[in-house]
Amino acid sequence: MAHNILVLPGDGIGQEVMTQVRRTIDWFGDNRGLDVNITEDKVGGSAYDAYGAPITDEIVDQALAADCVLFGAVGGPQYDTLDFSLRPERGLLRLRKDLELFANLRPAICFDALAEASSLKKELVAGLDIMIVRELTGGVYFGEPRGISDLPNGERRGINTQVYDTYEIRRVARVAFDLAQKRGNRVHSSEKNNVMESGILWKEEVQWVHDNEFADVQLEHILADNCGMQLVRAPKQFDVIVTDNLFGDMLSDVAAMLTGSLGMLPSASLGARDEATGKSKALYEPVHGSAPDIAGQDKANPLACILSLAMALRYSLDKSDDADLLEAAVDRVLGSGVRTGDIMSEGATLTSCTGMGDAVLAELSKSISG
Ligand code: NAD
Repeated sequence: MAHNILVLPGDGIGQEVMTQVRRTIDWFGDNRGLDVNITEDKVGGSAYDAYGAPITDEIVDQALAADCVLFGAVGGPQYDTLDFSLRPERGLLRLRKDLELFANLRPAICFDALAEASSLKKELVAGLDIMIVRELTGGVYFGEPRGISDLPNGERRGINTQVYDTYEIRRVARVAFDLAQKRGNRVHSSEKNNVMESGILWKEEVQWVHDNEFADVQLEHILADNCGMQLVRAPKQFDVIVTDNLFGDMLSDVAAMLTGSLGMLPSASLGARDEATGKSKALYEPVHGSAPDIAGQDKANPLACILSLAMALRYSLDKSDDADLLEAAVDRVLGSGVRTGDIMSEGATLTSCTGMGDAVLAELSKSISG
């Protein structure tokens, strides 16, 4: 049965990198029997220009009905003075909210050919393959009470509240354990139970999910500050890390930088699993933004977006073999020394966004011609 994919390229380089993703999808359709119905629409600044809003109700409905959403990037200086409610990023935030995408998956994979580009020693990062699962819809970024108030003594007080309920912790823990079973079967759960009650609850609930549903997975609890240190000391000790919204925000950026450029980082955001279909709502997007400084110049690295497609093949489209094929093709392209400007190194061959797309398709074709 055909899968329905909603493609939202967005603004700036979002358009350019998504063009390469569309070519890659076509390749899988032509050569591997991938059966998809694609609807493409606007989001962010381009939607504001066309429809007067960063996303429309119709597009949200399409996203809700789709098997997954492929998202490019949004934003640009021309939209910076708009009212907050009309800013491009509101389009993405609305999708995350309406699709209830509570689990953010950020892989940190170091391709051997790029190991030299890491700020850590090559031997610490070569072969690195970590998955950080960040809770995305709760915690201190959303907790009440919040705000800034005036105090009687003339000073001011800023308040945010870290708050988690059992169901929020258990559902994201399940995503992490489920992923671990398909990888190295190990989960580190990270919080600050030494100083935060919400951390005590986090630890207890993750342990509950483990003991009752995933006892075969190896679970370790690690304080978030220690997790940060271990990520830069010996990152390969980790397989899956599950953590809350705030710590996840920081730890996923730390892990990301171990692997080199923003242009290489994919992500997925997953919602609850539908009991009837076994599927989760899902949105796949590169970690980078719309890069106005290089937009429209065919210079962007499309690999983060192409690797996000690989995640979609694996987690939404039941095509793990095709995901493996695509990731292996990217690995070989990098191994051959083809580079966009952001990952350029001495002796490598500089190419364009389109050229990188060509190189990936050529490697894919080689891989099936034996
Ligand atoms: P950015 O990620 O767009 O760019 C940061 C730097 O990295 C720039 O120098 C850019 O040229 C480079 N870069 C990013 N992606 C690249 C790629 N694929 N290939 C080569 N180089 C790449 O972040 P920014 O400059 O802080 O933000 C620009 C706009 O993007 C802003 O409007 C911001 O709000 C928006 N933004 C959107 C998202 C999103 O859509 N999820 C995320 C971050 C920023």
